Amino acid sequence: MQELYFPEAIVLDREDANGFDSRYSIYAKGFGKFLAKATSARKITSKLAGHLEPGNLVKIRVVGNGNFQVVDVLKSSKIEVRCSDLYLLNQMLPEQDFEFAIWQELMNVRDDRIDRGDINDRSEGSKFSWTKVLKILGWDPEHAVCEQCGEGKVTRFKIGSQSFSCQDCFSTQMVSTRKFLSGRTSEFVTLSEA
Ligand SMILES: [Zn+2]
Repeated sequence: MQELYFPEAIVLDREDANGFDSRYSIYAKGFGKFLAKATSARKITSKLAGHLEPGNLVKIRVVGNGNFQVVDVLKSSKIEVRCSDLYLLNQMLPEQDFEFAIWQELMNVRDDRIDRGDINDRSEGSKFSWTKVLKILGWDPEHAVCEQCGEGKVTRFKIGSQSFSCQDCFSTQMVSTRKFLSGRTSEFVTLSEA
């Protein structure tokens, strides 16, 4: 049984597993994304669950060989990225593949930058940017064209087909396919609202 300790890791997503178990997707500095189960994490009495909220920056210890189990976790800070964006980022990141530039983007929006002296004022802080993240992952929106019409400024990136869409084509498609409107099945990234 392998034991791994990560002093800096971000909780990307949480899924309910069997019974009272939950499965978490974690992005650890120097290691990349991995999945870890926390038994009974959904019981109110569990000490782990509160620390494992998506968006939390944590210190985490896991055991296992590929199938990891959370042994211990402690929240140290939080990053200012919407859960829906973290969910999408989770879909896009491959397992056990660490990308330092992605890590930096996430650290740029950590909650305690003022305490750490990184910035003087919250308004100075940068915002999580899909444009930057997509570029790092190899899909540069600045040089992309809409897949449907071949022109227009792209405003969305569809994860499933790894394609860009302009606002007009996206709106048309959204009307014709209702599934885009329902919560977690919305597998597209919003770059900018037109
Ligand atoms: Zn278009």
